[in-house]
Amino acid sequence: MPLLSIVIPAYNEAETLEHVVPALRTALCARQIDFEVIFIDDGSTDSTFEKIRRQSEAADNVRGYRFSRNFGKEAAIWAGLKEARGDCCVVMDCDLQHPPESLPEMYRLWESGYEIVEGVKKSGGGSAAYKLFSGIFYRVISRLSGMDMQKSSDFKLLSRRVVNELLRFKERNTFFRGLSFWVGFNSTKIVYEPAARKFGKTKWNFFQLSKYAVNNIVGFSTAPMQLVTGIGIALLAASVVLLIQTLIRFFSGQALEGFPTVILLLLIIGGGVMISLGIIGVYIAKIYDEVKDRPRYIISQSTGGDSDS
Ligand code: UDP
Ligand code: MG
Repeated sequence: MPLLSIVIPAYNEAETLEHVVPALRTALCARQIDFEVIFIDDGSTDSTFEKIRRQSEAADNVRGYRFSRNFGKEAAIWAGLKEARGDCCVVMDCDLQHPPESLPEMYRLWESGYEIVEGVKKSGGGSAAYKLFSGIFYRVISRLSGMDMQKSSDFKLLSRRVVNELLRFKERNTFFRGLSFWVGFNSTKIVYEPAARKFGKTKWNFFQLSKYAVNNIVGFSTAPMQLVTGIGIALLAASVVLLIQTLIRFFSGQALEGFPTVILLLLIIGGGVMISLGIIGVYIAKIYDEVKDRPRYIISQSTGGDSDS
């Protein structure tokens, strides 16, 4: 019987943790779906790993890995995919916002031949500001990458083939949501209603979300650098107009009044140059990060399976 691996990144989720495996069991056992659960504790500072250990001792099909520090959800997803042994893998959040009840449907779609089943949020949760910014972010990134990622989430099922392809990626700055589109294969969507978070609270603040957005846009597209070229061309065009105006004024003998113009021009050009340098700097920083080729995460402890420690 095919095995479904469920990869769950968990960061300070001690409150929800106990509820996850029972919920999965309820959703999957009745449908006779064989599954394993892989928890990745992303360097939690609470008792998350203790709870994972307890779960894995109570059931053969639960394993856990603990990062040596907080490496971020992306790293945790990748670690989980690497450890998964199933014929297909689902990535889901630990807070049960991704409904386990959708799993059988995703699994059936996989059985019927789809390699990727995307979970698409029905109605986005979060504040109005969150909706606005995430709306802009997905529109920008969908436009830049030419792939429709609106309302997408990390809740996905991937076949073994897709997981193996993703594991070949050497980049450190991964964007799971985007890369699962990038790999292609025949995919389908299921719509799910994100449940409200029952325990704990969201791990994201505005600063982290902005960082995530910038990182992923930079990681996925070089369009911002072309923007620099665009700004340059626009400035050049404007300078031709100014040049003509200045020359006319000079020859008609009224050239002395240009002082405010000079200050304004200096400020505009100075600002433009600084922003452009900044954009290029972001890419150089990314290149620097990738070139160092450090491991994406470090596992300090594991529990369950053959590799107990
Ligand atoms: N998470 C993680 N590392 C982090 C932050 C979050 O592994 O640094 C996990 C978290 O435990 C949860 C999932 O990522 O399972 C989604 O986090 P959260 O619910 O806080 O995000 P939201 O649902 O609000 O987007
Ligand atoms: Mg959540």
